[in-house]
Amino acid sequence: APKIIGLTGGIGSGKTTVARFIEEFGFPVYYSDDRSKTIVNENEELKLKIKELLGEASYDENGLYNRKFVADKVFNNRDLLHQLNEIIHPAVRIDFENWLKGQTKYLVFKETALLFELKLNRQCYKSLLVTAEDNIRIKRVMDRDHKTYREVEAVMEKQMPERDKIKMADCIIYNNTNLEELKEQTEKVIFNIE
Ligand code: ATP
Repeated sequence: APKIIGLTGGIGSGKTTVARFIEEFGFPVYYSDDRSKTIVNENEELKLKIKELLGEASYDENGLYNRKFVADKVFNNRDLLHQLNEIIHPAVRIDFENWLKGQTKYLVFKETALLFELKLNRQCYKSLLVTAEDNIRIKRVMDRDHKTYREVEAVMEKQMPERDKIKMADCIIYNNTNLEELKEQTEKVIFNIE
């Protein structure tokens, strides 16, 4: 079976960018956050559970997940957020396991924003953290998502502190400079995993 490397990082750290580089170097990446967005629209059992937890308005008239509604509901309610994760997480884990069965490389990567928060690192061979200084991350997200400094900072404040993630990570990529250096660092790190 392939070794699973958990790839993570806070908002704007560059984890998706690193994931694309990893794919360019020939390794498969499972995008947990992307997949979960598909799963909430496709899995009927999951849909029922979410509506039960957060209300019918969790889905629009076409049966599509109302991300804004759900995000607003759970943003300041840790308990609800936890319950929502308890519904979505097992479905994503099953989806990942099915994906894994089709993999033939010796290393595969699992990108997930909540690797440490959900203790998913325990199911990985190693964890790989992408990090950068707060100011740099905020600026990048402001440019990418057209948000204000304060809006990005508010999201960041809800996430696990960077220093905690740094303590737990097996490998760390510091993304404080340019994309060229990021790609070089990525290459070094992934080919040195043993
Ligand atoms: P989120 O969790 O918010 O989705 P992320 O960790 O996946 O963020 P990316 O989307 O990869 O982060 O990067 C955030 C933004 O910063 C993107 O627009 C990306 O192109 C840009 N970026 C990332 N790293 C660098 C870099 N070293 N130099 C310049 N731009 C960068």
